[in-house]
Amino acid sequence: MAEECTHDCSTCGQDCSSRNEPQDLTEKLNEYSSVKKVIGVVSGKGGVGKSTVTSLMAVMFNRMGYHTAILDADITGPSIPKAFGIKEKALGSEKGILPITTHSGIEIMSVNLLLENETDPVVWRGPILAGTVKQFWSDVVWQDVDYMFVDMPPGTGDVPLTVFQSLPLDGIIIVTSPQELVSMIVGKAVKMAQLMNVPILGMIENMSCYICPDCGKKHYPFGESRLEAVAGEFGLKILGRLPIDPKHSTACDNGTVESVLCPEAQEAAETIEKLFCS
Ligand code: ADP
Repeated sequence: MAEECTHDCSTCGQDCSSRNEPQDLTEKLNEYSSVKKVIGVVSGKGGVGKSTVTSLMAVMFNRMGYHTAILDADITGPSIPKAFGIKEKALGSEKGILPITTHSGIEIMSVNLLLENETDPVVWRGPILAGTVKQFWSDVVWQDVDYMFVDMPPGTGDVPLTVFQSLPLDGIIIVTSPQELVSMIVGKAVKMAQLMNVPILGMIENMSCYICPDCGKKHYPFGESRLEAVAGEFGLKILGRLPIDPKHSTACDNGTVESVLCPEAQEAAETIEKLFCS
């Protein structure tokens, strides 16, 4: 047995006789909730468009007629409420915390809906951040949700690890951009998903190209994409490629992501839907 055994095998790598294998660390869903499918959206680092892709996928699934939700697990960089123009704060009831419903009917929970001032920084340590994500699963009333998208914190740290362990993810989408060191970053995400036994649905390349609004020609400001080679290397499916479109950033900035028209995002959503409905 390890010298200072805490009897918490999840934080210890020792292979000792008192190891109680394997621990199910999945958090219990609120008794009034029902969530059919949970999809995590991950990226190797911030700024590649993970939150934009999460928002767009939720919007597209909602348009396809599914009751859709977003659990914003990016606690220190929450950007979902802003993209949907949500100003109100979440309220509680005797059943639990109630998510905010957007104009088109998407259910959202984010730390920014609980903070008094949305510009307040979240200066909490890892276990508190991770605990908050768990509570978003166990204490929020998610009613009749068909598809929940989880905007994961970037990287492979404490909080993403907790999300992997505590939420029953049906799959993850890896978001990359052409300027990333895609192979290394995808490799890390793949290993983490494998360790946690979570299926990888595939990759979405964001900011793939820029389509000239005048002549329709595609430009590749970040150079040629290595998406196909990397997807092949890890045996992953390419779910879609989203172009750079200033309309997307404007929509996310002024809270109108629900009105975005993006055929590439629509196609990616349909590809994901097929993975669950075939
Ligand atoms: P992450 O969640 O990975 O940190 P965000 O989704 O917040 O990244 O995106 C970072 C910035 O890039 C935001 O200002 C967002 O509006 C912008 N952005 C993301 N994807 C696109 C895109 N396809 N076209 C134009 N701007 C984009």
